[in-house]
Amino acid sequence: MNDCLFCRIVAGQIPADVVYEDEQVLVFRDIQPKADVHLLMIPRVHVESLASPEPPDSALMAHMCRLLPKVAREQGLQEGFRTVINTGAGGGQEIPHLHLHLLGGSNLPGF
Ligand code: AMP
Repeated sequence: MNDCLFCRIVAGQIPADVVYEDEQVLVFRDIQPKADVHLLMIPRVHVESLASPEPPDSALMAHMCRLLPKVAREQGLQEGFRTVINTGAGGGQEIPHLHLHLLGGSNLPGF
């Protein structure tokens, strides 16, 4: 998807502060962090959201969820972290490429 910001990050056309990557996902720092640590985990393939007509592959979702604690630990979040997935306009999703927010640190805002 040429017009998708996160696809362009995956393609290396837009720079990002990448902290982890493998054959399925990319994890990079949010450009406007809402906490000490604020990362975005995205699939390399374009999936619009959890509510896409073609929903994300189960194995991919499992991979992403299972990676979260490892990435969080690597960022110093031994005590835990928050995960947020905004879905659709009603859920506050601004970028229509599925992404998991991973947040943590001493100034984690209230929920
Ligand atoms: P959401 O509202 O769930 O769609 O979140 C989109 C997130 O992407 C926001 O927290 C933005 O700050 C973040 N964001 C937008 N553009 C970039 C970018 N170029 N690099 C990193 N994060 C970005």
